[in-house]
Amino acid sequence: MKNREKLEVSRRQVLVHTAVGAAGLLVSRSGARASEKFGSRGKALLRPTPQCLETEDNILGPFYRAGAPFRTILADPDEGQPLHIDGSVSGPDCQPLAGALLDLWQANDDGIYDLKSPDFLWRGRMNAGKDGIYSFDTILPGRYPSGSSYRPRHIHFKVSSPGSLSLTTQLYFAGDPYLKTDPYVRPSLIIELEGDETQWSGTFNIVLGVA
Ligand code: FE
Repeated sequence: MKNREKLEVSRRQVLVHTAVGAAGLLVSRSGARASEKFGSRGKALLRPTPQCLETEDNILGPFYRAGAPFRTILADPDEGQPLHIDGSVSGPDCQPLAGALLDLWQANDDGIYDLKSPDFLWRGRMNAGKDGIYSFDTILPGRYPSGSSYRPRHIHFKVSSPGSLSLTTQLYFAGDPYLKTDPYVRPSLIIELEGDETQWSGTFNIVLGVA
């Protein structure tokens, strides 16, 4: 099954921005309220301590394979709708986790995982940079049947760094109609994509807890 329809990106359907973005929103809102009520002195008193919320975990699912090659291109752009994802890996203090290890896997455009081939298609491991930043290029994953419905488009992540709690989670995309019916989706794991079916891009900032 081909899923090449344009992914609708509606601001109304964006449930949650990234954790860092959400924190920034809270800061600006509380700052605005303080300013209205107390003037600039109140604003200063309510200056928040920087905090990054730990990324929510999500099920591993049945399709993980250990040992994927290190690479940042998980699919040829001709295989579907090209997708670029970048983001940061940090601790709850918002400090970057240099060299954090990310292990990613996803279905192809037809909703199929590579379960056997030595090529580990649509899978890859990569390290974040010294600044905790990572990025990769792939295609928008296809949906696949689950129970009486379909799983929404998603990418699986395992993320680890020495001294941090290892995280298994999934990344979802705003506007996917199957987000509403999937029992595993968590609103905090949904990001908004920019672009169109010729090139999507999005940001997923990841925060690991302290081990
Ligand atoms: Fe999956």
